[in-house]
Amino acid sequence: MGKIVCPKCEKDDQIQKVTSIVTSGVTTTNYRVDNAYGSGSGTSTSQTQLARRLNLPLLPKPKAGVEYGITTMLAIFGFVGACFFVFMFLNGEISFIGLIIYGAVEIGLISLAVNSSKKVQKRNAEVEAEQNKISAKWIELYYCYRDDCVFDPRTNKHTSPEGVNRLL
Ligand SMILES: [Zn+2]
Repeated sequence: MGKIVCPKCEKDDQIQKVTSIVTSGVTTTNYRVDNAYGSGSGTSTSQTQLARRLNLPLLPKPKAGVEYGITTMLAIFGFVGACFFVFMFLNGEISFIGLIIYGAVEIGLISLAVNSSKKVQKRNAEVEAEQNKISAKWIELYYCYRDDCVFDPRTNKHTSPEGVNRLL
């Protein structure tokens, strides 16, 4: 691969790496507030409009399923219950069969919770792998100020900053 040029205007005088536009387009300001409601200080970050248009697209993070929370809670409550049942059994207040039935239910609940936790972890890993692929392609992209286009110098495909997903 030789010199990198914009696939639209075929020149290199107006191009810049997308990553450097985005990082140099971020400004951080420290602020202090003092008014009737109180006082405080902090940092605010702002981006130039171009940097915002060229930002790395982020995939939505998968959420843990509702069933995961519910089964986990049931498993925890069940464990506490199991201790109680063992205590009752030792005191002779419930039969051995009662204890076995309770134990079986509890094992079922725990395995449900473990399974859905595994599913969530798997989905997280998949999204992370996909995001890494997107990031790896995104850091190779260039932007041409003349044509307002983003392009991949390896494929010469170009698009508007808004359509950057097509290159990733
Ligand atoms: Zn151009």
